[in-house]
Amino acid sequence: MQEKSELRDADLVPRMKDQGYSEEQVAQRRAWVETKTGVSLQQIAAATIPGESMRGNIENPIGTVQMPVGIAGPLRVNGMAADGVFYVPLATTEGALVRSYERGMALLTRAGGATTRVYIDENRITPVFCFEDVGKAHAFAMQLPDHFEAIRVAAESTTRHGKLLRIETYPVGREVQVNFCYHTGDAQGMNMIAKATHAGCQWIMTHLPALRYYIFSGFSSEKRASGFLLPGGKGKKVVAGALLPAGLLRLYLHVSPQQLFDLWHRTMLGHLNAHTVGYNGHFANGLTAMFIACGQDVANVANASVGITNFEITATGDLYASVTLPSLTVATVGGGTGLGTSRECLQLLDCYGGGKAVKLAEIMAASALAGELSMGAAIASGEFVDAHETYGRNRPQSE
Ligand code: NAP
Repeated sequence: MQEKSELRDADLVPRMKDQGYSEEQVAQRRAWVETKTGVSLQQIAAATIPGESMRGNIENPIGTVQMPVGIAGPLRVNGMAADGVFYVPLATTEGALVRSYERGMALLTRAGGATTRVYIDENRITPVFCFEDVGKAHAFAMQLPDHFEAIRVAAESTTRHGKLLRIETYPVGREVQVNFCYHTGDAQGMNMIAKATHAGCQWIMTHLPALRYYIFSGFSSEKRASGFLLPGGKGKKVVAGALLPAGLLRLYLHVSPQQLFDLWHRTMLGHLNAHTVGYNGHFANGLTAMFIACGQDVANVANASVGITNFEITATGDLYASVTLPSLTVATVGGGTGLGTSRECLQLLDCYGGGKAVKLAEIMAASALAGELSMGAAIASGEFVDAHETYGRNRPQSE
């Protein structure tokens, strides 16, 4: 019998020529897993994404997993880049989610659409430099801005689209965290700016007296929630807002502005009590579904779903609803955007390729607003559980 701690060569996933992305190699690897585990992988084998096109996106490929994808809309967006009516693909297994976003979108469209604007369009990475004592760390932090131009040239030598906008220093004890802030074009940009920052750090290590550095300090809040995300600067800072007449709210969502405002107020207190970062009902729901459909890095939902929802009653007794997403790391080139279904979903939104990332961010923000209104209304009107009973249950067969 095999010892628990024993790792035999035969247990390692087989290494293959050129990393093994051809159809035959993917099939061979899958067959190896089937033999090893006794599980048939018929569905995973039913892939339409050619193995070779997965190179750079995954290692040891054995096929694809599949997710249901639904469509929600029409959604009218009055943005600077997104100006029109959209049908938004949502990939999820949460029943009721698409229906919920759909009715929020219908309401927004009927009310004239969601206005969207992007304030900040950057991404950042924050290495940390170490020193012998706080005095040397302080001297470094004071000097560093003087060298911005040389650091910028070094960093930008590695990328055509990445632009280093500024560097910011955040000293802690005898270390200095240095925020490198970039415009990353239409890419999410983390590979791009990690490479650029590595080059910038090499310049710093050659010309300034740091003991050592690490490329990640943890400060940049990539794929995690933090308060530092709220002012913006990791991805696009995007807002969406709409004025919703009381009559339309009643017709589409079965609530009054007062009911929605009261729910917003009460749940705001719940969020305060729980010490959440920001306040929103469920940005993560719609964002995850859009990220999966559109080939975004889904782990970025951890930072992208930090944000603020606001419901206000106007002087005319209507509702003004807005969402602020300060950290929407989305892309229309690079990452998984070019893979089969991802590309099609982006094309559905006319958001595939160069020059489209801001448009995608605006559509996502407007969709998030639809989701906030719809879920808020479902809770305020007491319809939430019934809606999930109707659409959202998929009990095991034995029940
Ligand atoms: P990528 O697929 O590695 O690179 C995209 C490349 O597309 C860019 O570097 C750029 O080349 C090129 N490009 C062509 N047209 C462009 C346009 N219009 N706008 C911008 N770029 C354009 O993608 P990435 O966005 O840099 O990396 C994203 C992935 O890296 C995500 O999955 C992310 O989670 C992951 N990641 C990496 C790290 C890391 O440290 N490496 C850390 C966290 C996450 P040029 O650079 O030559 O302009």
